[in-house]
Amino acid sequence: MAARVFCVANQKGGVGKTTTAVNLAAGLAQVGQRVLLVDLDPQGNATMGSGVDKRTLPASVYEVLLGTAAVRDAVQRSAAAGYDVLGANRELAGAEVELVSLERREHRLRDALRAVAADYDFVLIDCPPSLSLLTLNGLCAAHGVIVPMQCEYFALEGLSDLVNSIKQVHANLNRELRLIGLLRVMFDPRMTLQQQVSDQLKAHFGDKVFDTVIPRNVRLAEAPSYGLPGVVFDPGSRGAKAFVEFAREMVARVDTL
Ligand code: ADP
Ligand code: MG
Repeated sequence: MAARVFCVANQKGGVGKTTTAVNLAAGLAQVGQRVLLVDLDPQGNATMGSGVDKRTLPASVYEVLLGTAAVRDAVQRSAAAGYDVLGANRELAGAEVELVSLERREHRLRDALRAVAADYDFVLIDCPPSLSLLTLNGLCAAHGVIVPMQCEYFALEGLSDLVNSIKQVHANLNRELRLIGLLRVMFDPRMTLQQQVSDQLKAHFGDKVFDTVIPRNVRLAEAPSYGLPGVVFDPGSRGAKAFVEFAREMVARVDTL
């Protein structure tokens, strides 16, 4: 079976994309899946948060996008977390401009990943907070999009831009792409507003809202400074347990795609 490829995307920053990407990767690894995590953000947070040093990468996703390195040669193993990482660092910020003049500029990542599709069950792509050419490469490489979101007042408004982008990419560039689901993250059930927005989400999006809810949990925020996903850093924490539960939900959902 070829790998199923999912983008973790939301054009807003600080909504929990990277936390979702690294912890879903670790959760999937824990339930026996072979996982590649692709860091598409020049900040390199998913790379560092997986225990891979972004400053000493032999090659990164930047070279892969430009076609000067193969995925297999650029991948690093995160021994502690149990999955592979195609890392990123600041160099990637330049790719945005360099890609513009290249052939198949939106499809570079998709073309490159084909060579390793048989090596993994899941490929997860951590996208930058924009609808840039980098994010487009992620969306063109993916079967589906996972959207982490906080249940705040303006959450629904921002969502329509992202849903429109997914529709556009589906229509023009990648017929396989679909919205897999909305993941409620940093959730605090004591906040009445969050509960209300959560109810609205379910009313609008129905079963596109994942059953699993990720709670606000300080252990998830502390883990990156130890170079570990929260799932590995403190497996007993509520946040870690929620992400392992989410990994199980994803495995079940993939069977229905
Ligand atoms: P993004 O990748 O969308 O910019 P991050 O995953 O980096 O977002 O998360 C933004 C901040 O929120 C980080 O400091 C992260 O540690 C923290 N965070 C994310 N999810 C949670 C959570 N469930 N509980 C507590 N803190 C969280
Ligand atoms: Mg991020």
